[in-house]
Amino acid sequence: MIMWSNGKFVKENKVSTLNWSLHYGSTVWEGIRSYKLQMNKTAQLFSLTAHIDRLFDSAKMLKMEIPYTRQEIMEACREVQRQNGNKELYFRPVVYLTRDAENDYENLTVGVDIHVMKLQNMYPKTGIRVTTSQDPRGYPAFWMQCKSSNNYGRLNLMQDAVKQMKQKDSTFVVDNYGHYVEGSTANIFIFKNNTLLTPPNNGSILPGITRKWVLDQFGGAEKQLTKPDLITADEIFITGTYAEITPVIEFDGYKIGDGTVGPMTDRIRKAYLHAVRNPLWNGIFGQ
Ligand code: PMP
Repeated sequence: MIMWSNGKFVKENKVSTLNWSLHYGSTVWEGIRSYKLQMNKTAQLFSLTAHIDRLFDSAKMLKMEIPYTRQEIMEACREVQRQNGNKELYFRPVVYLTRDAENDYENLTVGVDIHVMKLQNMYPKTGIRVTTSQDPRGYPAFWMQCKSSNNYGRLNLMQDAVKQMKQKDSTFVVDNYGHYVEGSTANIFIFKNNTLLTPPNNGSILPGITRKWVLDQFGGAEKQLTKPDLITADEIFITGTYAEITPVIEFDGYKIGDGTVGPMTDRIRKAYLHAVRNPLWNGIFGQ
């Protein structure tokens, strides 16, 4: 695979383990997918503008000034797609801090790389089993709105706990008040009494681009969700670039609905999978 590293197309970029961002967690990144459009079978990055806007927002929160324009980064992503052929791919633009000399704490420069890969190990279409993380999240926390490596150490621990439990696929995290905020790499939705609900964007979640798509297309309300809300929901699903729309069929050992993919989740998933390959009618998400 060909990647983009600080303005050049290269096969790989080897970064030293002394890299500043590796030690101090100051890296921000995005995860973007490309899909082949139905009309011309050409792979196009979905919601590229929204992802690059969020990358710049994340960088700003960590006071990192990206030395390229949004247009330049978007064009670099498109060129990485072209150089790697007409395939559906997963892109990782990464913004990091680096320094020339080991002990130079003053002269940090901001680097930007765009990695690309094929996605593997997708969630099962039949739905996943989720449990509550034992590691609650402080509330509110502005940096949770930042897609920064800082946040993913704890999120990795959540997924590691899942591996120990074998039968579970993912975890949901609660804030200090016991409200469910999000999954390890996805946002949460429940469907109950014909209403679509999702935890509010109040400083404790990453405001997901897929979450926004669902709210824009299907309506729904923001509400703080408690454990009983989840247990008694007719349907639960998670949203994310990687997860797309993934049904949750079990939560903390409780069967959700009848334990199979619910009709609303199915409808939203089909609409999403259609939208990502037919983005023209889909406003800003298509760019
Ligand atoms: N929350 C977290 C912590 C995530 O890592 C992700 C994946 N980027 C999401 C939510 C969903 O965001 P999006 O729909 O933009 O991929």
